[in-house]
Amino acid sequence: MERPSFRVVITDCDHGSVEEETEEFRGIGAELILAEARKEQDLIQVCKEADGLINQYALLTRKVLENLPKCKVVARYGVGVDSVDLKAATDLGIIVANVPDYCVDEVASHTMAMILTLARKTSFFDRKVKSNRWDFRQGMPIDRIQGKTLGLIGCGRIGFEVAKRISAFGVKVLAFDPYLQRAEEGIELTDLETILRRSNFISIHCPLNESTRHLIGEKEFQIMEKRPLLINTSRGPIVKEKALIQALKEGHISGAGLDVLETEPPDSGNPMLKMENVIFSPHVGFYSKESISELKRRTAKNVADVLKGRKPSSVVNREVMGKTRASISAD
Ligand code: NAD
Repeated sequence: MERPSFRVVITDCDHGSVEEETEEFRGIGAELILAEARKEQDLIQVCKEADGLINQYALLTRKVLENLPKCKVVARYGVGVDSVDLKAATDLGIIVANVPDYCVDEVASHTMAMILTLARKTSFFDRKVKSNRWDFRQGMPIDRIQGKTLGLIGCGRIGFEVAKRISAFGVKVLAFDPYLQRAEEGIELTDLETILRRSNFISIHCPLNESTRHLIGEKEFQIMEKRPLLINTSRGPIVKEKALIQALKEGHISGAGLDVLETEPPDSGNPMLKMENVIFSPHVGFYSKESISELKRRTAKNVADVLKGRKPSSVVNREVMGKTRASISAD
């Protein structure tokens, strides 16, 4: 039997199967090893002969990476690369790749589902009907969706897809995004205060970082003149939860749709769990059968590309280009 030309190790993976990855590596004659390693010593042991790694949660520290002399690429399932010591990878010439856009459709559609559920009170009515209460007046008042204004905080891939979808409902779209020079047609770029003042729906789609942590707090809720619905499918800590609970109690907002929370899962004593106008989902925005399959295929392709001497579609540590172990040119 012919010896495989490369060895690829999946450090850890809770997806249940590695069908897509196996398929991708069959094409380049690579051997694929699925490990369940989390500790430094175990990772070094199982990965030391690897030409490439796929990683989910296991921490790839400097010590681990320094002990992988053949490794040319680490591909992370998903967007975040907190599990990889990026500086160490760059120093060692290892490319770190990710898949930043595998679930744009899912998160945008999930956001729409939350806006519509809250605005039409469908989840509320469902609970009432199931407890034998058939009376539309229980949900009064309900405002018409058409003609309202959505304010986006962050208008990248997902924000833009939400804008496209909600435009079909006759809703005007404002966006606050300090890194956008100009917005697509139909979206009005503005400042955060205008978003807070004018929006009937506010939806968060910026990343979590030191400048966005608690971006929405007591002061921001006070400015919300139109008692908007607040949707967060981005990251929990962008909204200060204590202030959100207060704003719900005091009626500064009409309701909230939360796929993400400061503490996931919420403590059983979290008062929002008892509020009729708050809906939750368990950080599921990213998920569909198709998005996971695409994520697995594209993560494996990032590794296969490097092993074939090609730049992968998304390099996180761009500074590494030009000095990679794989000798891939910078352009
Ligand atoms: P993106 O990078 O395409 O867009 C993010 C946008 O936010 C960019 O346009 C950026 O300029 C803007 N931004 C950065 N800092 C900002 C600030 N301080 N104020 C306002 N805007 C700011 O990312 P994306 O693919 O649209 O994803 C957005 C976020 O969605 C991700 O950061 C992630 O946290 C979240 N997400 C959640 C799930 C889920 O399962 N719920 C899945 C995927 C992504």
